Amino acid sequence: MRLILLGPPGAGKGTQAARLVEKFKIPQLSTGDMLRAAVKAGTPVGLQAKAVMDAGGLVSDEIVCGIISDRIEEADATNGFILDGFPRTVAQAEALDDMLAKKAMKLDAIIELKVDENALLARIEKRAAETVAAGGTVRADDNPDAFRVRLVAYREQTAPVSAYYASHGVLKTVDGMAPIDQVTAALDAVLG
Ligand code: AMP
Repeated sequence: MRLILLGPPGAGKGTQAARLVEKFKIPQLSTGDMLRAAVKAGTPVGLQAKAVMDAGGLVSDEIVCGIISDRIEEADATNGFILDGFPRTVAQAEALDDMLAKKAMKLDAIIELKVDENALLARIEKRAAETVAAGGTVRADDNPDAFRVRLVAYREQTAPVSAYYASHGVLKTVDGMAPIDQVTAALDAVLG
């Protein structure tokens, strides 16, 4: 099962992806998580990406496509994967199509979590508060200023990715405003 989860920051992609990991026994490939790990480890990619991520902007297509191209060939992804946070631009979606064709891999589903933009900042603030309560470190970009930039990046660069898949007739949508369990049930229904 090879899936893409699309949706704005705070849509619940990470939460739902974690559940799909359990169900299908395939890894969640979050470019955000991979980039944060690279920043933490101080790798060349991390050093390049840190400032742009902290400000809420998008890392270059070249960097993230390189990361994904390598990652989907690893052994744990043989039976599939869930892409979370990638592709985020139409150029990434086109690059993904090319790399999958070269690797003779096919996508099974592309699902967009539809959410009301007005609810997103509150969700991000809740995530930050829950992280603090659990004794964790809040993401550097989970603050109102960076969030505004992330939302603009979403509207301008990522929303067209949904249109790209819709125009290919392969986009499915699920209501991401419903309670978490209902979203999971809706995803189950879509995935069959
Ligand atoms: P996320 O965890 O998906 O919200 O991603 C956090 C940040 O990592 C984003 O705001 C971007 O700076 C960067 N990032 C993650 N995925 C991508 C991507 N596919 N393309 C460009 N930048 C990305």
